Amino acid sequence: MRLVLATGNKGKLREFKEMCQDEVVAFSALLGEMEIVEDGDTFGANALIKARTIYEKLIKEKPLETHIVIADDSGISLPILGGVPGIYSARYAGEKATDKENLSKLIAALKEKGLERTSAYYTAAIAIVSGYGEYVVHGWMHGEAINEARGEKGFGYDPIFIPLGYDLTLGELDEEIKKKISHRAKAMKLAQPIVKMLKQKQGK
Ligand code: IMP
Repeated sequence: MRLVLATGNKGKLREFKEMCQDEVVAFSALLGEMEIVEDGDTFGANALIKARTIYEKLIKEKPLETHIVIADDSGISLPILGGVPGIYSARYAGEKATDKENLSKLIAALKEKGLERTSAYYTAAIAIVSGYGEYVVHGWMHGEAINEARGEKGFGYDPIFIPLGYDLTLGELDEEIKKKISHRAKAMKLAQPIVKMLKQKQGK
C-alpha cells in the first residue's frame, strides 16, 4: 500500500509526512508530471478532483498495487469582497501569477474600497481517495486582512493576515504558532484518523 500526495510542493510533502508518520510519495514520482484541471467551485470539490484524477490514473497504470491518494486545496476569502479571492487565491492576479502579485492585487482591492482592515479567513480542504471510499475534510483560520504587508515569514497572503486573538500578521508571528492554528493543521488533524483507518483496511 502506498500513500500518494497529489502535489509536488516540498513543504506540503513534509507536512503530510509528519501527519501520516509514514512514507508519502509525490504523484509525479510514480506518474510523471500531469496537468489537472481544477474546475470545481469549492475548495473541497477541487481537492477531490485532484485526488480522484490521480487515483484513477494509478489504477490504470499500477493495477497490482493499492494506493491512498491525498490532495489539498486552500485559499483566503474576504467576505466584504464577496469571498474573493477564495478558490482563485493561487491565480488571483493571473494564471501564472506569483504570490507577490496576488498579494499586491488584494492590497490594491482593499485600498480601493478604503478598507484598512476587514474580516478574512483561510480555508483548507483535504481529500482522500482510496479503495474504501472518498473523504473530504476542512479546516479554517479566521482573522482580519489589513491593507499593508507586514513581515517576511510564511508565504502567500500571510503578510496581511492577522489571526483572531493576535496583534501581528502571519508574516510577523513565529512560524510555530501558525503550525498550531492554521487551516491546514486543523484539516490535517481531521484527515489523520481517516488515513490511519484506511491504512489498516488496505494493509501495510
Ligand atoms: P493551492 O496550493 O492550490 O492550495 O493554492 C493555495 C493558494 O492560496 C496559495 O497560492 C496562496 O496564495 C493561498 N494560501 C493558502 N494557504 C495559505 C497560507 O497558509 N498562507 C498564505 N497563503 C495561503
